[in-house]
Amino acid sequence: MKLMGQQVVGVKTDKSGQQTFRAVDPASGKQIPPDFSAATFGAIELAVQGAENAFDHYRQISYQSRAAFLMRIGSQLESNGKHIVSRAQRETGLPKARLENELNRTVNQFRLFSSLVKTGSWLEIEIEQSHPLREPQPKPDLRRRMIGLGPVAVFGASNFPLAFSVPGGDTASALAAGCTVVAKGHPAHPGTSELAAQAILLAMAESNVPEGTFSLIQGPDYNIGRALVSHPSIKAVAFTGSHQGGRALFNLAMSREEPIPVYAEMGSTNPMFMLPKILENDYELLASRFVQSLTLGVGQFCTNPGLIVAIDSPALENFIATSIRFLDMQAEGIMLHSGIKQNYQCRLSRWRDLPSTHVLFDKKGETDACAVNPAFFQVSSKSWLENPLYKEEVFGPAGLVVACGSIEELFEVARQLPGQLTASLHGAEDDLSRFRDLVPILERKAGRILCNDFPTGVEVCSPMVHGGPYPASTDSRSTSVGPLAIRRFLRPVCYQNFHLDILPDDLR
Ligand code: NAP
Repeated sequence: MKLMGQQVVGVKTDKSGQQTFRAVDPASGKQIPPDFSAATFGAIELAVQGAENAFDHYRQISYQSRAAFLMRIGSQLESNGKHIVSRAQRETGLPKARLENELNRTVNQFRLFSSLVKTGSWLEIEIEQSHPLREPQPKPDLRRRMIGLGPVAVFGASNFPLAFSVPGGDTASALAAGCTVVAKGHPAHPGTSELAAQAILLAMAESNVPEGTFSLIQGPDYNIGRALVSHPSIKAVAFTGSHQGGRALFNLAMSREEPIPVYAEMGSTNPMFMLPKILENDYELLASRFVQSLTLGVGQFCTNPGLIVAIDSPALENFIATSIRFLDMQAEGIMLHSGIKQNYQCRLSRWRDLPSTHVLFDKKGETDACAVNPAFFQVSSKSWLENPLYKEEVFGPAGLVVACGSIEELFEVARQLPGQLTASLHGAEDDLSRFRDLVPILERKAGRILCNDFPTGVEVCSPMVHGGPYPASTDSRSTSVGPLAIRRFLRPVCYQNFHLDILPDDLR
C-alpha cells in the first residue's frame, strides 16, 4: 500500500481538491508528508451517490457474502498492520504497543460483526400467522424483520485512530447492518485513515460487494462533514468525538428537511464514588490505581476517570496526598494534536481561575510541542453543585475531587450528575450495602456502572454498553461497542399478508 494523499471514492481515488493539508507530528510539531488534497463538494457528492447506488445491491447480497466481506476487511487490516501502525505512530505520537493492541481490537471488531451477521439474530424476526376465522375480525399474517437504514456517515475521533476512526466499530457495525458507509477521516491522522480505507478497498475487490459500499473523504474543514450530514441520501450519522462536534452535527441533522438519527458518542467525566470505609482501608492502592487510570494515554480516553466524589475526611486527605505523590512521579505526556492540548489548557485554566477551586497538583513547564502534565483539583460539593463549569469534561489527565460535607450531599452530587458513559463505585463490603441506594441513581446517569474497578479499557463483547444519557451520547438507547451497536443502523419493517413469492427469504 502506498499513501497517495487522495480521497477514496468508491473504487476510485480523487485528488481534484486545490486545498491541501498535512498531518503533524505531535512531538516535534513538524509537518509529515505527503500533502493530502481536501475533498471537494464534487467528491462528497460522488461518494454519497456511490453509497446510495450501492445500498440496494449491498444489502441484498447473501449474509454469508456480507460476513465474508467483513472477515476480509479484518484480514486486510491485519496483513497491512505494520504499515498502518507505523503511520499512526507518526501521526498520533501514541506508542507502538498501544497501536498494535488497537489494531488487534479493530480487526476483532470486524470478526465479531462477521459472526453476528451469520447468526441472523440481528434480524429480530417475529412471525404471527393469520387467523382467517378470528372473531370479530380475521387476523392477517404478520412478519417482521430488520433492514439497514441506508448510507451512513461515520466520523472518527482523533484519540483512537483505528478502533473509533475510519475502520472502527461504527464502520464495522454499519456494514454489518447492510448499510453503505461514507467515512469522514479525522484531519489529525489522514495517512492512517487512507491506509485503512485502502485495506477496506482491497477487501471489497476480493468480495462480491458493489463499488460505493465504502468511501473515505478527508479534509481539515468542518464544511466537509457538514455537507455530508446535510446530504439527502445520508440516512444516519455515527460520530465519536467532542461534545461540541457531536452536538453541532446533531443539530444539523435535526434541521434537515428529513431529520435522521445521529449516534454521537461524546465526552464524559466518568465519576468515581469513593466510599468511606474503602478510603480508610485502601487509600494507597486506590490512589495508585486512580493515577494510573487518569494518566493512561495522557488522559485521552473518553472513559478517563476525571471526577472523584467522596465524603470529606482524613481518609480522603490521605488519598489526595498519596495521589499527589504518584502524580509527581509521572513524566509529561504528549497529546494527540495541538488542538487537544489547547483545549486541555483552556479548560484547566477555567477551573483554576474559579475562586472555589483548590489546586492540589498543577505542574508547568512542558518541553515538547504537544506535551502536557497532569492536573489535580478539589472543590466542595456546594461549589460543584452551583457551578456548571465543574460538570464539563476536561479531556486529558485532569482529576477533580468533589469533597462532600455529608452523605446527603454525596447523594445530591450523584443526582445532579449529567449523563455519563461510566460511573464507578469503590467500596468495602460495608460501604456497598450502606450506599446501595446510589445504584438506582447511577443507573439513570450512566451506560456502564463499575464496582471496585476503573473505567478505562472497554471490553468488546456482548454485554458491553459504551454510551449513556445525554451529554455522553445523543441517544441513550444505543452503544457504540459490542454487537448491540448494529441496532443503530437498522429499522423494523413489517410484511402483512405477503405472498410467498415476494416474501423475503428471511421470513419464510
Ligand atoms: P472532535 O474534534 O469532535 O472531532 C471528531 C470529528 O468531528 C472530526 O472529524 C471533526 O472534524 C468533526 N467535527 C468536530 N466538530 C465539528 C463541527 N462543528 N462540524 C463538523 N464537523 C466537526 O473530537 P476529537 O478531538 O477527535 O476527540 C476528542 C473527544 O472525543 C473527547 O471529548 C472524548 O471524550 C471524545 N471521545 C468519545 C468517545 C466515545 O466513545 N464516547 C471515544 C473517543 C473520544 P475536524 O477535525 O475537521 O474538525
